[in-house]
Amino acid sequence: MNDYKALADLLYPDVERLPEYCELLYPKRSLPEGAKVTRFAPSPTGFVHMGSMFVSLVSERLAHQSNGVFYLRVEDTDKKREVEGGVANIVRSLSSFGINFDEGVTDLDEEKGSYGPYKQSERMGLYKVFAKRLVEKGCAYPCFCSEEEMDQIRKQQEAIKANPGYYGQWAKHRDYSLEQVRAELEKGKAFVLRIKSPHNPDKRIILHDLIKGDIEMPENDQDMVLIKSDGLPTYHFAHAVDDHLMRTTHVIRGDEWLPSAPLHLMLFEMLEWETPQYAHVSPIMKAEGTGKRKLSKRKDPEAAVSFYHEQGYPSVAVIEYLLNLINSTFEEWRRENPKEPNTNFIVELDRMSVSGALFDIVKLTDMSKDLIAIMTADEVYGLALEWAQEYDPELALLLSGDDSYVKQILSIERGTEKPRKDIGKWSDVRAYLQYFFDELFLEEVKAGYGFPENIPQEEIRRILEGYMELYTASDDKNMWLDRVRGFCEALGYARDAKSYKKNPQDYKGHIGDVTTVIRIAVANRKNTPDLYEIMQAMGAERVIARLKQAIGL
Ligand code: GLU
Repeated sequence: MNDYKALADLLYPDVERLPEYCELLYPKRSLPEGAKVTRFAPSPTGFVHMGSMFVSLVSERLAHQSNGVFYLRVEDTDKKREVEGGVANIVRSLSSFGINFDEGVTDLDEEKGSYGPYKQSERMGLYKVFAKRLVEKGCAYPCFCSEEEMDQIRKQQEAIKANPGYYGQWAKHRDYSLEQVRAELEKGKAFVLRIKSPHNPDKRIILHDLIKGDIEMPENDQDMVLIKSDGLPTYHFAHAVDDHLMRTTHVIRGDEWLPSAPLHLMLFEMLEWETPQYAHVSPIMKAEGTGKRKLSKRKDPEAAVSFYHEQGYPSVAVIEYLLNLINSTFEEWRRENPKEPNTNFIVELDRMSVSGALFDIVKLTDMSKDLIAIMTADEVYGLALEWAQEYDPELALLLSGDDSYVKQILSIERGTEKPRKDIGKWSDVRAYLQYFFDELFLEEVKAGYGFPENIPQEEIRRILEGYMELYTASDDKNMWLDRVRGFCEALGYARDAKSYKKNPQDYKGHIGDVTTVIRIAVANRKNTPDLYEIMQAMGAERVIARLKQAIGL
């Protein structure tokens, strides 16, 4: 119909701006060759799923490793899902992991960058300009169907087993004349704007996905809604308009959007825009039983990014774990480049998992232990204190009460070739330090000591009394060990495990039994860092007091 222009004016009488003008407002970005423009486009619910952080990390790295731009666009057209302070929470939460935006909405609810507004709710004027253009071109039309009418269509389709949806012969307003539309409007009826798909169900298209490769799909044949009856755009339309005007080069998003990609390609074609490149990321999976399932916000606490802060995982450990999920070559790179910042690792889309990376909190914790093990005692102290101040005030008091004692404890076996890996997250620090503090230790041993059951009470007493006599705080490690070995022999224990194994009948036990008794007396734990070192950290007075306490003196 040549009335398309008239129809467009009828539907959008107030829209005077031309698409060409908008194109000038948001010119092509002048960036170096190969620079990528990517974005993170969350709804402002405030909740950040690990999967979203995963996708946003990929996007951020691709932009920044190519000297491009990474921006934040807030998809707030569904007001029901909006949460007060949601945007600030998202920005701060990502920023705490080192993921920062060059443009977009900030945590202070301001905007930076010249491709805004960056909140979809403030872009209504722009959507209308392009909606009007689509109508003018005969590519979109108003649909006045009520919910009841839509229900009826569905039922009829079910009855004759036709494909569901609004398309072709079912799309009753698709070919309404200008007069018919005017009549509906005069009745005060609200409309949605639908794309007028060419409806060729046999036609197939190919999407060149940067992760999944070429994907052949049927062309979109549904007259999908572009603008809802309240005037807000659907995701599909907003995606096309925003990513075009903001000059996004790479749309990296969850693969739940893959089935809609044919519609998106169609929109770019109708609007005569260059399509961005697409990369559809498979969801992060979690092993369950013999199978796997999606990491779930409802079932898995580790699906929430806030979990990692609450537990006290160092941000760098979480990011490095995610990098390892993004490209499994990361681990090898890290081994070869132990000192480089992880931003030097080049992320490659075509090396990402097509079926979905498997998330494993145990592996994350192990990576975190490795990273914490090579930090200095000062670094561990500082980060643990910072965490404790927010999440465990009692621990914070303990840490700040005697910082040199704490640092000495944290220095045990640190800086050696095989540093200990007791701490995977800052919430482990309490258990790690607890027994070094007298008040906590005494509280703990009220319930009794865990001495080995195979050693009689009197023997335990004999060991502890004897050891108290000979304990010399100024011994260096070798002197200490020699002294303990001599002590063992005097008591009838083998000086080392090897001699015991050769002739067990000659001994009551071996050095390990004796040191276990001492260890329980000073720490009430079978496993601790090196016994000599923990006693050095505790200091003579404390060690003697603990030996006495255990003997019951
Ligand atoms: N708001 C959309 C989502 O959260 C954004 C998808 C996209 O990145 O395009 O799923």
